[in-house]
Amino acid sequence: MFRSHHCGALRETHIGTEVTLAGWAAKVRDKGFVLWIDLRDRYGITQLVLDEERCSAALLEKARKIGRETVIQVKGTVVAREAKNPNMETGNIELLLTELKVLNEAQTPPFTIEDKTDGGEDLRMKYRYLDIRRTPVQNNLLFRSKVGLLVRNYLAEQAFIEVETPYLIKSTPEGARDFVVPSRMNEGQFYALPQSPQTFKQLLMVGGMDKYFQIVKCFRDEDLRADRQPEFTQIDCELSFVHQQDIMACFEGLLSHLLKEIHGISPAPFPVMRYEDAMKTYGNDKPDIRFGMTFTELNAQAQNKGFTVFDAQELVVGIAVPGAANWSRKQIDKWIDWVKRPQIGANGLIWVKCNEDGTFKSSVDKFFDAEALASWATACEAKAGDLILVMAGETNKTRTQLSALRMALAEALELRKPNEFAPLWVVDFPLFEEDEESGDLHAMHHPFTAPKPEHLSLLESDPKAVVAQAYDLVLNGNEIGGGSIRIHDRSTQEKMLSLLGFSDDEAKAQFGFLMDAFTYGAPPHGGIALGFDRLVAILDGKETIRDYIAFPKNNSGRDVMIDAPAPLDTEQLDALALIVKPKPE
Ligand code: ASP
Repeated sequence: MFRSHHCGALRETHIGTEVTLAGWAAKVRDKGFVLWIDLRDRYGITQLVLDEERCSAALLEKARKIGRETVIQVKGTVVAREAKNPNMETGNIELLLTELKVLNEAQTPPFTIEDKTDGGEDLRMKYRYLDIRRTPVQNNLLFRSKVGLLVRNYLAEQAFIEVETPYLIKSTPEGARDFVVPSRMNEGQFYALPQSPQTFKQLLMVGGMDKYFQIVKCFRDEDLRADRQPEFTQIDCELSFVHQQDIMACFEGLLSHLLKEIHGISPAPFPVMRYEDAMKTYGNDKPDIRFGMTFTELNAQAQNKGFTVFDAQELVVGIAVPGAANWSRKQIDKWIDWVKRPQIGANGLIWVKCNEDGTFKSSVDKFFDAEALASWATACEAKAGDLILVMAGETNKTRTQLSALRMALAEALELRKPNEFAPLWVVDFPLFEEDEESGDLHAMHHPFTAPKPEHLSLLESDPKAVVAQAYDLVLNGNEIGGGSIRIHDRSTQEKMLSLLGFSDDEAKAQFGFLMDAFTYGAPPHGGIALGFDRLVAILDGKETIRDYIAFPKNNSGRDVMIDAPAPLDTEQLDALALIVKPKPE
């Protein structure tokens, strides 16, 4: 037997028993006549003890030479601890050693392997296997595994079956670039790695699988924004013979189940918000509804009152910041500077203090009297003690800017409580979005999304007005999932692709297989995919997905541990018939 117990197992009830443990020497404390070693494995830490009175000199000598992270196997007797440690599960006992065997020596690790480490992000990523030895990282991976299991069990119980779809495929457009893989056997030809299994899961529905799921890697070659991974994991699902409401009910059930199992929370039925309302009220299609500060449009109250800055603008919109009327000029100016930074790009902020005594003080006192400001306050539902912040400009831009401010304010005011969960559905997305410069139409979700049946005829006459049967699942200001009812007939799919700018030939070359399948009896179907990495992080009250991925890539898409991506040698390039252009000097 390699070990009789693991390092988190021993309790007072074991006192007097002989045990064998194995693990890493996390810490060695040498007091001369007595020596302690903290022995660590995935399950916990057990304190080992050796002293001159009870152990042989040879054993003490051997223990003294143990360096941090040496892998050892020990035998001993469980004894009561004199100084108990209530913070450790094994804190009432220690193991008095009778034998010690070094299983493997270890170099001194480049950072301390403790809950709070001295290692910076880069160093920890380079030696990720050492980072993974740390309890917080282990806990994240255990949590991820637990969520995965809950998801699998829930979906299996709902009669979903897990089917694997291929990774070496042809482009599936989800709005990003493809990662491509050259084919050696088909010179000059390339596979694309799936941005999602979208077309395959639809084909599984044509194949009669009825309810499919897969916890699956997806690959998107995007310019990496903070906390995006080029490869990430989705809980990908598809169902036949369903309406939008059926899919929403099923996945509302899944998220509620997770919240219940993990946090003991039974959420109320999820609110359903129309895309247009989300944009109007939160400036955002993934609103964080854990706190207020909703948008109030103030055009009627604030325009044509002599303040020309507002008059020419498409939108004047404000939020009431709770309890911020007592902010100093300096504090307010800090936020004005914040919105003027190029990342946000606003022209500025107008502010109105709704003082506790019922008076108002604003940055536009010259143009608006107390009565006018009171009408703003009423519209914004600002209470005495609140601060109203107002922006004006082009509608979409201003909404985006004010939304960024709202989120940053909520962060600063600690209104984004990590242990509060506020899920909602956002529905009724437009089918298309228009490229501002070229005027080209893009699919807002993806090209397989069905329009609302009553909007089918608008496809021809007014495509921009078409509303999609698409829905997003939003949790705490994050889009954690999205899906749609799909087009399942050839002619609508052809129409859709042509509106997206595909010629007939291009459409056939890229999606002929799918459109052919639609002609052999495709059932009405729809689905959804949830971002698993993000879901896990949020359910754990965190937002950094990298912390929940065993071997993540850095912000430049690199794995710094294995040093990938890397060049190929000439032989490999030749076999693939690839030529790498030398970089210009
Ligand atoms: N394939 C979609 C995505 O990856 C999800 C879906 O429509 O089911 O976002």
